[in-house]
Amino acid sequence: MGVTPPIALISLTAPGGELARHIQCGLPGALVHGLSGRVDDCDIAFTDTGATLQALFRDGHPIIGICAAGILIRTLSTSLSDKHTEPPVIAISPDGSSIVPLLGGHHGANRLARDIARLTGGNAALTTAGESIHGIAFDEPPTGWTIANPTRAKDVMADILSGGKPSMVIEAGEPDWLESLPLDHDGAWMIRISDRAITPNPNELLIHPPTLVVGVGCERDCTPGELGELVTQTLTNSGLAPQSVAAIVSIDVKADEPAVHAIAQHLGVPARFFDAAQLEAETPRLENPSDIVFREVGAHGVSEAAALAAAGPAGQLVVAKTKSRRATCAVARGTSIDASRVGRGRGHLAIVGTGPGDKSHRIPATDTAVAKAQDLVGYGPYLDLLGPSIAGKTRHDFDLGAEIDRCRHALNLAGQGRDVALVSSGDPGVFAMATLVFELLDQEARPDWQRISIDVHPGVSAMQLAAARAGAPLGHDFCAISLSDLLTPWPTIQGRLKAAAEADFVVAFYNPRSRKRHHQIETARDVFLAHRPADTPVIVARNLARKGESVEIVSLAELQVESIDMLTVVIIGNSQSRQMAMGGRSWAYTPRGYAHKHTKETGN
Ligand code: SAH
Repeated sequence: MGVTPPIALISLTAPGGELARHIQCGLPGALVHGLSGRVDDCDIAFTDTGATLQALFRDGHPIIGICAAGILIRTLSTSLSDKHTEPPVIAISPDGSSIVPLLGGHHGANRLARDIARLTGGNAALTTAGESIHGIAFDEPPTGWTIANPTRAKDVMADILSGGKPSMVIEAGEPDWLESLPLDHDGAWMIRISDRAITPNPNELLIHPPTLVVGVGCERDCTPGELGELVTQTLTNSGLAPQSVAAIVSIDVKADEPAVHAIAQHLGVPARFFDAAQLEAETPRLENPSDIVFREVGAHGVSEAAALAAAGPAGQLVVAKTKSRRATCAVARGTSIDASRVGRGRGHLAIVGTGPGDKSHRIPATDTAVAKAQDLVGYGPYLDLLGPSIAGKTRHDFDLGAEIDRCRHALNLAGQGRDVALVSSGDPGVFAMATLVFELLDQEARPDWQRISIDVHPGVSAMQLAAARAGAPLGHDFCAISLSDLLTPWPTIQGRLKAAAEADFVVAFYNPRSRKRHHQIETARDVFLAHRPADTPVIVARNLARKGESVEIVSLAELQVESIDMLTVVIIGNSQSRQMAMGGRSWAYTPRGYAHKHTKETGN
């Protein structure tokens, strides 16, 4: 299941920007996009309104435009093709009084419009038929509910709209969301709420409630095919509707079991987990308690116990433990089950980078990962770089230098089943946290850490932005060297300096000089002067994309080390790199081929 990209609040004027900020406080993870030159206070500035809206729409961002509906309609009209996949699009009048869902009414736009109306004190102008009559949309039932025969939904709705009253039979679940429906025992249509796999009568709308949970257990590396077959066969044999399954549940040591996640994904539901103590508490209700299982996992049952724990105290076992060669499965029935409140999910760690400074160099995948995370771990100022997108999340600020503690903390949180983002500046894998995480995972066989899922997202590294600001100095073979000897012995660094200089690499220096550490960059300059022309261009880039940014291009012989600090990245060109002037400023580039340069210089 994909993750919804962050909501985009689009403002084209300064007052619109203020309203967007107000709405943003009530929509965690939403980002304010402001028209450059008009809206100063925004998270992301844009210049081309049409292209920006189309790109956001194409990428599935819910769009809230604080502008005339016509702007959104005209801009997006060429992009409309599939009403089942389009994200919500909402127009809001600049005074916040009218909130009009234009697209995706049944994909969250109506709900979002109502939320915004509460924030602005305005009116949500809902125009979808079901919504505007009884607050009900059969084609967008609440999470977990499924219409078995959706083609009938339109007819039932049309009947209700013209004054008809259906009858309702509730076999399972609590359909609170249908409360306002006018009912009549003798109605022409029947609405049946059932978790059984039945064929609806011609005059029947069959709705499956989220009332079933499937508990599973299996041996390590049981194939997804075997567990999947066991679960689907069990449901079929007992006449239960797979659409009513709210979650696949198991014991926490199975949180990284591929077969468990495969069947959850197949059914389109979350996989959730309980620890042994929670499962053991269900022992009195088990039909097949087992001492052998207790000796293995610390609870007298896994599949039955997990299903019962998920179904809650009022829930009941409807299918006792069934087995295949390497897997077990049981089914329990509860009332309306909200999978997100059942046990806990598999912990997730996203390792992300902010880019060098402001948000313009942050990749969208990072924003998405941050929007999804519950906990953010990082050096305080790096978390600050994320701006308002971190509203509503738990911050875990660490001091500079406490890198191992930061990684450990992030792994521990994910190990507890939380969704965590570990934040570095620049790229998280370049002299940053990603490596430490993998070192810890490799060196310490902590079972809770081994069970989490991990994503690493790339970021724009300081070296890349420095290069882009200066032109194209990394155009030929290059390397990066950190001049900090805190983690690497100085003789090793010296050896690499010499090797890079001799091999004629363009080199980017990170951590070049601190208040206490001066000599390394001087040594580096001298080593390179011994192997390259004195006029080799050097880029000294300070505070990139941050307040006080400066980018200078000087010759190697003129490099003043005093101008360099820990927020500087230094790039030394190779023997072919050139400096040139254009548009009243200097640029540096490294030709891609030596031959080409030679031809130009000699005139051949
Ligand atoms: N992961 C980071 C690097 C962390 S090491 C990245 O990919 O950029 C820290 C060093 O990165 C600093 O000492 C400096 O050399 C460089 N650096 C990070 N941010 C910078 C910025 N905004 N401007 C200039 N240099 C920066």
